[in-house]
Amino acid sequence: MQTAYLTHPACLKHEMGADHPECPARIHAIEDQLIASGLMHYLAHYDAPEVSREQLRRVHTDAYIESVFAQSPQSGLVYLDGDTAMNPYTLDAALHAAGAAVKAVDLVMSGAAENAFCNIRPPGHHAGRSSAAGFCIFNNVAVAAAHALEHHGLLRVAIADFDVHHGNGTEDIFHDDPRVMLCSTFRHPYYPYCGVGSENSHIINVPLAGGASGEDFRAAITQHWLPALDDFQPQLLLISAGFDAHKEDDMGGLALREADYVWVSEQLKSLAARHAARRIVSVLEGGYALSALGRSAVAHIRVLSGL
Ligand SMILES: [Zn+2]
Repeated sequence: MQTAYLTHPACLKHEMGADHPECPARIHAIEDQLIASGLMHYLAHYDAPEVSREQLRRVHTDAYIESVFAQSPQSGLVYLDGDTAMNPYTLDAALHAAGAAVKAVDLVMSGAAENAFCNIRPPGHHAGRSSAAGFCIFNNVAVAAAHALEHHGLLRVAIADFDVHHGNGTEDIFHDDPRVMLCSTFRHPYYPYCGVGSENSHIINVPLAGGASGEDFRAAITQHWLPALDDFQPQLLLISAGFDAHKEDDMGGLALREADYVWVSEQLKSLAARHAARRIVSVLEGGYALSALGRSAVAHIRVLSGL
């Protein structure tokens, strides 16, 4: 069965200023590497639909959703936080980004695809129940998890987040919901300066020191994530796929390589085969060194596709 690939042209029109690292070229960096590798041709392509208000309300407050719609500008930029801005196309991009994650869940739950990758922006994992933060507006992976629970009737969904930054928005949304296990590795202390001491039996937070190597990363996954995930037995595995822990990514300050993304993708694919009927939905989070982002994302997608 093919790997599904979801994106939308709106994700290329959301811009937060000329020098902002979370830029449209990120989408192209991944697509260019997919084409160069020959992999693009083997993916099942889908246009991302818009997320519905009902789907957003499962994880965000009405007041927050309304405030995002109300602040969408006619021209120029409106800042939702110091790092996160909306241009006239941002709302459209955010709605399609979350919609991609929902559609990807529908594709793997129906058996139309074994797994899926969503090449989308804005990213989502810093967006909390009622807050934009760190380039994120709607929490795409959380919307996907809630859709799997509420629409498809799953009882246990896991989110694996290997972005260099803690998935604090995702934790905010699911900290008290034991149906969702969140496993997050992240540099600490580092933005968003949380995630240590907030773990519980279904929130598996694993801080890594600045400069941590691929070996350190793999040890953290092996010792902390995999036993917890095997105990939890998720029926669907979601991945917050950030590639900003790559050695070439100045924003992250860790030292992962493509081989480490291959390794963690293989571990998660095996886990999904053991517990989740192979169902994986992976959504793009961070990754700002464009060449490293493209190479790492394609290494990840290659594992998902089995090619
Ligand atoms: Zn990040």
